[in-house]
Amino acid sequence: MDPMARPASVVKCEKHGLHYDSAKANGCVVCRREAGEPPPPRQAAPGSGSLGMPLAVAAVLILVTAFALQAAHGQLQDWLRTDKPVQPGISAAGMPTPDEQKQMEKVLEELKQQSGGSDAP
Ligand SMILES: [Zn+2]
Repeated sequence: MDPMARPASVVKCEKHGLHYDSAKANGCVVCRREAGEPPPPRQAAPGSGSLGMPLAVAAVLILVTAFALQAAHGQLQDWLRTDKPVQPGISAAGMPTPDEQKQMEKVLEELKQQSGGSDAP
Protein backbone atom coordinates (compact mmCIF):
# COMPACT_ATOMS: atom_id res chain seq x y z
CA MET A 1 0.00 0.00 0.00
CA ASP A 2 1.54 3.22 -1.10
CA PRO A 3 0.78 6.02 1.34
CA MET A 4 1.68 8.57 -1.33
CA ALA A 5 -1.38 7.51 -3.31
CA ARG A 6 -3.65 9.40 -0.94
CA PRO A 7 -3.75 13.08 -0.18
CA ALA A 8 -2.16 14.08 3.09
CA SER A 9 -5.56 14.92 4.54
CA VAL A 10 -6.74 11.34 4.27
CA VAL A 11 -6.23 9.68 7.61
CA LYS A 12 -7.23 6.41 9.14
CA CYS A 13 -9.92 6.28 11.78
CA GLU A 14 -8.40 4.77 14.88
CA LYS A 15 -11.72 3.51 16.12
CA HIS A 16 -12.97 1.86 12.98
CA GLY A 17 -9.87 1.53 10.84
CA LEU A 18 -11.55 3.33 7.98
CA HIS A 19 -9.89 6.00 5.92
CA TYR A 20 -11.47 9.40 5.64
CA ASP A 21 -10.53 12.84 4.43
CA SER A 22 -9.80 14.86 7.54
CA ALA A 23 -10.01 18.02 5.44
CA LYS A 24 -13.66 17.29 4.69
CA ALA A 25 -14.88 15.30 7.66
CA ASN A 26 -14.23 14.96 11.34
CA GLY A 27 -14.39 11.19 11.26
CA CYS A 28 -14.88 8.17 9.11
CA VAL A 29 -18.26 7.19 7.75
CA VAL A 30 -19.05 5.14 10.84
CA CYS A 31 -17.93 7.93 13.15
CA ARG A 32 -20.18 10.41 11.38
CA ARG A 33 -23.07 7.99 11.36
CA GLU A 34 -22.63 7.48 15.06
CA ALA A 35 -22.48 11.23 15.56
CA GLY A 36 -25.80 11.49 13.79
CA GLU A 37 -24.47 13.63 10.99
CA PRO A 38 -26.19 13.24 7.69
CA PRO A 39 -24.05 11.80 4.93
CA PRO A 40 -22.34 14.44 2.83
CA PRO A 41 -24.12 15.36 -0.36
CA ARG A 42 -22.41 13.48 -3.15
CA GLN A 43 -23.66 15.81 -5.78
CA ALA A 44 -26.26 18.50 -5.98
CA ALA A 45 -29.12 16.43 -7.26
CA PRO A 46 -30.82 18.15 -10.13
CA GLY A 47 -34.22 19.27 -9.03
CA SER A 48 -33.48 19.24 -5.34
CA GLY A 49 -33.58 22.76 -4.05
CA SER A 50 -35.19 23.98 -7.22
CA LEU A 51 -38.48 22.36 -6.33
CA GLY A 52 -40.17 25.73 -6.33
CA MET A 53 -39.15 26.42 -9.89
CA PRO A 54 -41.75 24.28 -11.68
CA LEU A 55 -44.37 25.57 -9.28
CA ALA A 56 -43.45 29.13 -10.12
CA VAL A 57 -43.61 28.35 -13.82
CA ALA A 58 -47.00 26.74 -13.36
CA ALA A 59 -48.24 29.71 -11.40
CA VAL A 60 -47.06 32.10 -14.11
CA LEU A 61 -48.72 29.95 -16.76
CA ILE A 62 -51.97 29.97 -14.80
CA LEU A 63 -51.78 33.72 -14.39
CA VAL A 64 -51.06 34.23 -18.09
CA THR A 65 -53.90 31.90 -19.06
CA ALA A 66 -56.30 33.62 -16.71
CA PHE A 67 -55.22 37.00 -18.01
CA ALA A 68 -55.62 35.86 -21.61
CA LEU A 69 -59.06 34.49 -20.85
CA GLN A 70 -60.01 37.71 -19.13
CA ALA A 71 -58.74 39.70 -22.11
CA ALA A 72 -60.64 37.48 -24.51
CA HIS A 73 -63.73 37.85 -22.37
CA GLY A 74 -63.31 41.61 -22.35
CA GLN A 75 -62.93 41.62 -26.11
CA LEU A 76 -66.04 39.50 -26.45
CA GLN A 77 -67.96 41.91 -24.25
CA ASP A 78 -66.65 44.85 -26.25
CA TRP A 79 -67.72 43.10 -29.41
CA LEU A 80 -71.12 42.40 -27.93
CA ARG A 81 -71.47 45.99 -26.87
CA THR A 82 -70.59 47.43 -30.26
CA ASP A 83 -72.35 44.78 -32.28
CA LYS A 84 -75.58 44.44 -30.41
CA PRO A 85 -78.13 42.08 -31.86
CA VAL A 86 -80.93 43.98 -33.54
CA GLN A 87 -83.69 41.95 -31.99
CA PRO A 88 -83.84 41.11 -28.36
CA GLY A 89 -84.10 37.42 -27.85
CA ILE A 90 -81.38 36.54 -30.30
CA SER A 91 -78.58 34.90 -28.44
CA ALA A 92 -75.62 37.04 -27.54
CA ALA A 93 -73.51 35.56 -30.29
CA GLY A 94 -76.00 36.75 -32.87
CA MET A 95 -76.58 33.24 -34.10
CA PRO A 96 -79.71 31.75 -32.54
CA THR A 97 -79.67 28.07 -31.90
CA PRO A 98 -82.38 25.96 -33.54
CA ASP A 99 -84.23 25.89 -30.26
CA GLU A 100 -84.05 29.65 -29.97
CA GLN A 101 -85.13 29.98 -33.56
CA LYS A 102 -88.20 27.86 -32.90
CA GLN A 103 -88.97 29.88 -29.80
CA MET A 104 -88.57 33.11 -31.72
CA GLU A 105 -90.85 31.94 -34.47
CA LYS A 106 -93.43 31.14 -31.83
CA VAL A 107 -93.04 34.55 -30.24
CA LEU A 108 -93.17 36.28 -33.61
CA GLU A 109 -96.34 34.42 -34.47
CA GLU A 110 -97.86 35.42 -31.17
CA LEU A 111 -96.81 38.99 -31.76
CA LYS A 112 -98.35 38.91 -35.23
CA GLN A 113 -101.57 37.59 -33.83
CA GLN A 114 -101.58 40.21 -31.10
CA SER A 115 -100.55 43.19 -33.19
CA GLY A 116 -102.29 42.19 -36.44
CA GLY A 117 -105.68 42.00 -34.87
CA SER A 118 -107.26 41.27 -38.22
CA ASP A 119 -107.89 37.68 -37.34
CA ALA A 120 -108.76 38.41 -33.76
CA PRO A 121 -112.43 38.26 -32.84
ZN1 LIG B 1 -14.50 5.95 12.70
